[in-house]
Formats: sequence, structure tokens, C-alpha cells
Amino acid sequence: MTRRGRFAPTPSGLLHIGNVFAATAAWLQMRQAGGEFALRIEDIDKPRSRPEYVERIIEDLIWLGLDWDEGPRRGGSHEPYVQSLREPLYEEAFERLGETGFLYPCYCSRSDLASIGSAPHGLASEGAAYPGFCRTLSPEEREARAKRKEPAIRFIMPERVIEFLDGWAGPQAFDADTLGDFVVKRADGMFSYQLAVTVDDAAMGITDVLRGADLLDSTPRQLGLYEALNLEAPVFSHIPLLVDDTGMRLSKRDKSLTLASLQAEGIPPERLLGFLACFAGWIERAEPVTLSELIPLFRPVYPEGGILRVDASLRKWLWEK
Ligand code: GLU
Repeated sequence: MTRRGRFAPTPSGLLHIGNVFAATAAWLQMRQAGGEFALRIEDIDKPRSRPEYVERIIEDLIWLGLDWDEGPRRGGSHEPYVQSLREPLYEEAFERLGETGFLYPCYCSRSDLASIGSAPHGLASEGAAYPGFCRTLSPEEREARAKRKEPAIRFIMPERVIEFLDGWAGPQAFDADTLGDFVVKRADGMFSYQLAVTVDDAAMGITDVLRGADLLDSTPRQLGLYEALNLEAPVFSHIPLLVDDTGMRLSKRDKSLTLASLQAEGIPPERLLGFLACFAGWIERAEPVTLSELIPLFRPVYPEGGILRVDASLRKWLWEK
């Protein structure tokens, strides 16, 4: 069976070093395995997404030397490759979940949810586990609440430990009470990331999902959806998050680390690739490399805690073009 991977950026900003690391690793994983690689634009959150970022992301990936077998500007057998055009698929899965008893309406307000507190650890993509307040409402209680508020719709997570073997992070186990029932459709009608990404990865035949460790706790939730929808789950791999010498996350907010600003500084793609291959440990010394040179050298790296330190001297090297 041909392995299939993907990069699935959200066009809510410019690509930065963290996204480039994820895109490059996902691409290298497939090229090393002789697999196929898809690009999918995750613009389901319409207010946060902008068309100009879609174009910029595509241009940035091309500048880096990445190619894709399917996706925007290329087409393929799983079109469209833009989530905002795939809503009928999410609707269909949503209806199936409803018919099989996996959903319930949730009338909790923002302040009800705030009272649950915050997520238990730093790497959380969904916030605190929802304790199921609305799960056991009687039909009468639901009716009374429905008069006041449009509900969000939650997915009922199985009440057991969810285990999986992560391709990079190793064996994982998540307790039911750290996950909770999560939203698949918001009160404003928008389908959630969790539902859309699961439906799309399954529909596109993705066998290998590789993404940032900030989404590690999304994986047990997505596995819940795969199971409920009777779909085969891919192998998940989560790559470490990048931090600087002081332990601060290299983030979107650091404008100097966007691809756009590196390009504006005249830094060639081979130098950027050498920089990330060096902190990933794929090459020993910082030196410019091409993507194809990295194909045989690529391997998983996952330090304790899912944090990878990018030291200041390496950062300095990047700017010494
Ligand atoms: N669209 C998500 C993001 O940009 C990534 C989703 C995924 O790879 O599963 O954060």
C-alpha cells in the first residue's frame, strides 16, 4: 500500500519556522518512504483565515522546494483541497454521528466553561476537559434551554483510556477525564477542526499524519471520531515544539522567524533547511543543504517533554548568509 502524508496549514498568518519544520518533516517522511504527499488548506475557521495567506503559504512552500502530488494549483483525485469547500462532507459525517447517538446539544455559556478552569498542561489544543454538564439533560431541560440559546454540538468521548503509539513521541495514553466531550459543531454552525481534519484525512486516504506536538492531545479525540465513524485511523506522529535558549517558544509572534522575513533578508532556502536539519539532528554541523539531500538523513527526533531547543549560536549562523 502506498503511504500518504500531508501538510495542512491554517491560513491565519505567515508560515514561521515551526510550520516549516512540520511541513519539511511531513514531506521528507513521505519522500523517504516513496509515498505521496498532499497539501490541504485548513480554512474552516473563516474569520481567522485570509485568502492572501493561502497564496503566500503556497509561494513559501514552493520557495522552500517542497512539492505536492495533490493539492492547490495541482488538483488531484480528492478535490477540493480547501476545507471551506468541503462542508458537505463534514455535514454528512456529522449526521452519521447524530444518527448513531454520539452527539448532544450543549447550552453552556462562555462563563460556564470558564468555571471549569484551564487545561492541565502546556501542550493542550482543546482547553480544559468538558465535564459533561449538558450530557444528561432531560428532554424537558433541553427544550427549556433551547428557547434561550443556540447550542453547540458535542461528541461523546468513550469513557476509557485512549492509547496509541506515536511515530515520534512513542506510546501515549490519555484518560477519559482529561479529554471530555468536545465540540464538533459550534453554535454559529461552524464545524470544528477535530471533525473536519478527521473527515478529510480519512477521505483523502492519509496513512501518516505528522504535525506539531501542540496537537498531541487532539489525537485521542480524533481517534474517538475515527472509531465512531468506523474509519481507519492513520499513524500519528508529533514533532517537538521549538524553543529558544531561555525556553521560550519560537512562535508566530516572533516576526523575524517567518519565512517572509527570512526571504526579505536574502537568506536562501538551503540555509534555512540546513538550520532546521541541524537542530533536528539530521546533519551534524550547520551547513546549507537541499531537500533532496535530506531525504536519506531524515529520522524522528523527540526529546523529553516534546521540546527542542534551538540554541542562539545556531540562530546566529542562520543570519550569517
Ligand atoms: N491546520 C492545523 C494547523 O495549522 C494543523 C492540523 C493538522 O495537521 O492536523 O495548526
